[in-house]
Amino acid sequence: MDRIHNFNAGPGVLPESVLRKAQQDIWNVGGSGMGIMEHSHRGKLFEKVIAEAETTARELAGIPDNYRVLFIQGGATQQFAMVPMNLLAAGRTADYLLTGVWSEKAFKEAKKFGAVHAALSGAASNFSEIPPASAVAYSADPVYVHLTTNNTIFGTQWRTEPAVPAGVPLVADTSSDMFSRPIDVSRYGLIYAGAQKNLGPSGIVLVIIRDDLVERGAETLPTMMQYRTYAKEKSLHNTPPTMAIYVVGQVLNWIKETGGLAAMAERNQEKAKLLYDFLDQSAFFRGTAAPGSRSLMNVCFRAPSEELENRFCAEAEKRGLAGLKGHRSVGGMRASIYNACPRASVVALIDFMKEFETANR
Ligand SMILES: *Cc1c(COP(=O)(O)O)cnc(C)c1O
Repeated sequence: MDRIHNFNAGPGVLPESVLRKAQQDIWNVGGSGMGIMEHSHRGKLFEKVIAEAETTARELAGIPDNYRVLFIQGGATQQFAMVPMNLLAAGRTADYLLTGVWSEKAFKEAKKFGAVHAALSGAASNFSEIPPASAVAYSADPVYVHLTTNNTIFGTQWRTEPAVPAGVPLVADTSSDMFSRPIDVSRYGLIYAGAQKNLGPSGIVLVIIRDDLVERGAETLPTMMQYRTYAKEKSLHNTPPTMAIYVVGQVLNWIKETGGLAAMAERNQEKAKLLYDFLDQSAFFRGTAAPGSRSLMNVCFRAPSEELENRFCAEAEKRGLAGLKGHRSVGGMRASIYNACPRASVVALIDFMKEFETANR
């Protein structure tokens, strides 16, 4: 065995078939005598790679024609700035739904560009749940509403989109649950997803943006900070991370070949249920997210003491179960069971947890 069970939160596990194909294509892609990384981004071969990645994304999510599909660098973190730079017009207010570390970071960054309003905060429950819809208090006339669909660090996830005032674009950071379930793109103005959780390598972001929002940003913004640059030039204004886009395309193909988003959601539900069911009956481990807000992607849990938690992670590592330590800001354990995490890895984790519980109870 030369591969272990990978529960890393991001960069995370990739599908085996994608890695194997990438290995070949790094050496010689499509019989061209060159590897994918060595091809010009203006050449026929790469043009096809990026066009196919877009087409597959469109097919998978049924992305309507009045939305652009863009590949942007700088990670999801750069979108924390790019969104308000382009959409937060002077004299207007942007509303943020604060459900965890990443949404707070997005909120803090947006403050640099204009007025922002926290329309919801889960801080009182230490972000262990998505507060109820009744707790949302929008400002008088928000220019957009921003949410984080899955809270990677606290292990909570929105079940469905919150209602927003009529005509107000919903902007979503879907970095850690993109394409893990069907998504109704028409309910959003802008969706962004850093690729390294569910879509591919780090450093590339998939952005889906409605046409009318593409043109909102001032033309005086830096060229690379305007959505219109990417929309007009099909994400090829400068040299994009060609390898990363290639891998995203392969991951999208893999999602399609394995049955699309509905089948993916079914598998993800089943994997998460195995783990949560185990946690619910355990007298030793306990899940930290409120049951109604549990993430299907990041399962956070604790053991009776920090000492036991440290031992758990160390022993798990020795047994080929990697990446189980919780985020440094919250402690405990976190199993990230993204799209590409095989069911067998979840089963192996539960087997180890049973054993650890028996030995340390
Ligand atoms: C990982 C993550 C980010 C940060 O992504 P970078 O690519 O490191 O900028 C932002 N939002 C969410 C929800 C994430 O999970």
